[in-house]
Amino acid sequence: MKYNFGIDIDGVLTDEGPDHNSIWQQKMNEFFDREITLKEYTYDLREAFAINDQELNEFIQEKIEEIYINVKAVARAREILKELYDKGHRLILITARSEEHRSITESWLKENNIPYHELHHEDQKAPLAVEKDISLFIDDKKENALEIAARNIPVILVSKYHNHDFEGNEQITKVKDWDEIKANLDLFFSKNTHTGKLS
Ligand SMILES: [Mg+2]
Repeated sequence: MKYNFGIDIDGVLTDEGPDHNSIWQQKMNEFFDREITLKEYTYDLREAFAINDQELNEFIQEKIEEIYINVKAVARAREILKELYDKGHRLILITARSEEHRSITESWLKENNIPYHELHHEDQKAPLAVEKDISLFIDDKKENALEIAARNIPVILVSKYHNHDFEGNEQITKVKDWDEIKANLDLFFSKNTHTGKLS
């Protein structure tokens, strides 16, 4: 049996660095003429780093491409996705990044040898996950996880400071890294096939 897997990019395939010295924080420190620190454990960059709307807009305008180009990939993610790809499963990347960053994103995926079949720029992930007949989704944003799980699609939620207040539920399994994602993929296969493992 072959499955379609939905996979987020930022915070899942990208290694943004430690919570208190992420690539976002580092680039903000370069950009703003003051010390930027992580203040609130929230997904909203304005609240997280105590910057206002205008500052966020300027920062995004000036720095986001630099982040998308320079952020490292999680090496273990590449290995595990390659294994899935080689077994014939379908890897569908769904990112909330703007479509205008498509070519940068494609180049980054290529440079980092991340195998995939489809790349979608879409922030409404749940309807697309249904349309694409996705069997399991991997994301780091709690709100996405809840919306996707509400469509009866199981989710692996990668632990980040911004989802610290959510421990997961029956449909959403919280993990700390790609080794735990691999363990959960194995569990998914053993539940869904007679032969188990990545067959
Ligand atoms: Mg993400």
